[in-house]
Order: sequence, then C-alpha cells, then structure tokens
Amino acid sequence: MTEKSQVTCSVDFTSDGKRSGHLAIPQSTNSAGWAKYFVPILVIKNGSGPTAVLSGGNHGDEYEGPVTLMNLFRELTEEDISGRIIIIPMLNHPAVAAGTRLSPIDDVNMNRAFPGRSTDTITGMIAHFVATEVLPLADLVVDIHSGGSSMHMLPSVNMHRMDDADQMGKMLKAGRRWGAPYVFLYRDVAGSGLLPSYAESLGKVTLGTEMGSKAQYGVDMLRHTSRVRNVLHHAEILRETPPDPGDANPIVVAADNEEDYIMAQTSGIFEPFIELSDQVTAGQQIGQIHSLEHPDRPTEPVIAQSDGILFARRSIPLSRQGECLAVLTRAVDE
Ligand SMILES: [Zn+2]
Repeated sequence: MTEKSQVTCSVDFTSDGKRSGHLAIPQSTNSAGWAKYFVPILVIKNGSGPTAVLSGGNHGDEYEGPVTLMNLFRELTEEDISGRIIIIPMLNHPAVAAGTRLSPIDDVNMNRAFPGRSTDTITGMIAHFVATEVLPLADLVVDIHSGGSSMHMLPSVNMHRMDDADQMGKMLKAGRRWGAPYVFLYRDVAGSGLLPSYAESLGKVTLGTEMGSKAQYGVDMLRHTSRVRNVLHHAEILRETPPDPGDANPIVVAADNEEDYIMAQTSGIFEPFIELSDQVTAGQQIGQIHSLEHPDRPTEPVIAQSDGILFARRSIPLSRQGECLAVLTRAVDE
C-alpha cells in the first residue's frame, strides 16, 4: 500500500473549477507495445468544504451509476456546490464498455480488487490509484451498484454494520437521507476487497446502493439513483435543497446471517415461487430447480432457512451449484 501508483491523472483535485480528464493506466498490448488505458474522471471544486467521491460502473453491467453520475456532472455548476465532488462514472471502464460484470482485460472483479497494488493487472492498478490517491481525500464515498445481469433487487442504499458507533450513525443518517425505499445492512458472503469495505476502513461515511437490475433498468430506478443529490446536500456540498426528497422514512432491513443468502444446492433451471418484497417464513419452499438431464426426476426444492422479505432473487433462470438464488432481509430497529 505504500508503493507509488503507476497510474497518472490528467486533472488536478486542488484548484477551483469544473473539469474532466482521465486516469491513464500503463498497458502493453498486442496492438501497441506502449499504451495507456484511459478511465474518465470528473472534478468540480468550489472553495473549501467537504469532498465527495462518487463512483459508478464498479461492475460493468450496472449502468445506473454511470448514467446518473454523468448527468450529475453535466447539470452541476461550480456555483452549485461548496467543497469538492470527484466522480469516476465508469470505474471498471473496460467492463462497462463490454457490458460485463468483470473486466474483459484481466477477468477481475473491481469490487474484489481493493486496495489493489501498483504492479497489479489493470483492475488492481485502478483500484490501487483510487485507494491511495482518491479515497483518502473523501469525507463521503458513494459507490452506485445494482443487481446487474444476475440479480433483481429492491432499490436500496446499503452498508455493512460498523463497529464504530459514531461512523455507523453517520452512515445510517446519510443513507436515510438518500430517500430510497430501503436502507440495507448486508454482510459479505462472496469474498473481500470491496471498494465500500476499504472506504469504511478509512473511517469514511460510505454508501453503496443496489438499485434494481439490468432488467429493471429504466425511469423508476434512475429516479432512485438521481436522489444521490439528497446525500450531497446532507453532506453540505450541494447548496440548494434538491427538488425530489424521495422516501422520508426508508425501511432499514438487514441480512445478517449466512442462511439469509440462499445458494443453489444443485445446478439446473431455477423456478421462483415468490417475488420481491413477498414475506417468507423459515421452512417455506421459495422455488425449485429443474434438472437439465433428468426431466423425469423430482425437482430440487429451494427452502428458506430464515424468516424475512424477499429482497433479491436471481434473474437468470440457469443456475450453477453455489450461485445465489435469493436474499431474505428483516426490518431492524436502527
Ligand atoms: Zn455491483
């Protein structure tokens, strides 16, 4: 983490104004021995004040963040803010350009690559620059996600549970102010190295989102993501009160237990029995898996191990053993 990044940035973060540029990541390819891969970066700064770092496209098949953040940059003027907003709208740019969750260059998941290394493959080099040069500048970190290709999600602002009660309180307050229907407290069941985890470990007020999915992408979901303005106003960066406050009393839900994340026990075609926001009780069958090889055999039942509402479910029928089929959450008193 102490090694200097090999990534260069064409914009400066310190002077007032509104400007766009790029990160340049060294690459040597079959078509160019000497090359740089450009990742756009946008900065608006006006005087002293807090800094927000906003990212989208951490997963390349989640376009809610890129669209929202590019619109935000176009619409805001320097006079609209106090402080600074740094936007990386397409963090895993190769993946956004390819429409894939992971980078097609190195097959790496950006949200498992933090804090990266200066000598990593391209995804880890981008993560390392963001971890060492950008996130330390932030007071507020927002990383906009959705369920992408594989999961339908109820629209939420999300975060881990923090040991630091002061940090957790600030994150919950900021999360509620977004105005999404849900604030979702989640745990990591599929690895470490997340951008939000790293930002949280730096003590930053950190918000992620899960705003629908690729199939749910549209006017409603983009309205939810555009309410990031409410959080920027809450952080005293955006001067004017945004016109759309959203939900005044979001429901805080949590999936704290491993069994709340239901993984496929066998491979096959997943058939869901319940839909998002339906109430489920432990022991209830929430779906079944059909064998691709043995249509005559009984289906494999998918059983809920806990009570809760269906917060997320797999959107791709074809499922492999171990893939997440559903997530159950319960309202919590936070
Ligand atoms: Zn994502």
